Amino acid sequence: MPEQNRYTAEQRRYLAERRRKRRARRRRQNLLLMLLIAAVVILTVLIAVHSCSPGTPEETTQSQSVLATTEPALTATQPPLTTEQPEATTAAEPETDPPAPAEDKSWNLILVNADHPLPEDYTVSLKELRNGHHVDERIYPELQQMFDDARAQGIHPLINESFRTRERQQEILDKYTASYEAAGMSHEDAYAKARQTVALPGTSEHELGLALDIIAEYDADSTATWNWLKENSWKYGFILRYPADKVERTGIDYEPWHFRYVGVEAAKEITEQGLCLEEYVEQTGP
Ligand SMILES: [Zn+2]
Repeated sequence: MPEQNRYTAEQRRYLAERRRKRRARRRRQNLLLMLLIAAVVILTVLIAVHSCSPGTPEETTQSQSVLATTEPALTATQPPLTTEQPEATTAAEPETDPPAPAEDKSWNLILVNADHPLPEDYTVSLKELRNGHHVDERIYPELQQMFDDARAQGIHPLINESFRTRERQQEILDKYTASYEAAGMSHEDAYAKARQTVALPGTSEHELGLALDIIAEYDADSTATWNWLKENSWKYGFILRYPADKVERTGIDYEPWHFRYVGVEAAKEITEQGLCLEEYVEQTGP
């Protein structure tokens, strides 16, 4: 005998109603499950697209954080990658930074002379001094310290020339040439004479922002100031750039006022070994 015959009509209605409800519940559960699966698929696609797109370091950090939260296995093998943003940023930094120190390493030893013009694309971040002069901002702290210490010892140095643009260098050369011409020289002779003391535009250290001409602030005689600088400037990373005994090598007459920043380490070695920058760069390599 078929099973449903054992039930009363009311029981059958009840059972039918219960089956209907169960089917409805199952449909709802299926629908919910499908929605859940769809959500997971969409989320996965979004993460994949986001982590593939090139972005700023911040964006990379964010996608790494998302990965770390949704895939615990990653955090287990990579302890530094946590969900906390600041730590993730720290971990990501070394990947983007390394090239900078290599480029920056020898900025202070760049050689500029008649044979080594400034690179065409040379740029410098300048710091303006109180008297309107400009220097490479990287040398400012040591320059300030040198002047402070000199003043504490009764020496009052004054910057007479500092950073020059290429255009300014050209103006100076033109001005010197014109003054010799005015004194009766031919243009050719006047230019040749000007070139003895003025470097060609693009070959003057002053265009680097690392060279300074220094005189005494109050005295007409700068000898004491120059002597102090000759004795002490290396401690602050500066060298007397055109010494009297290196004229042959530098190609520039003795200039007791012209100091050049090369960094403390190089200044110490150059001073101890009695070298000029040309010799030092040749010795240590570019
Ligand atoms: Zn100079």
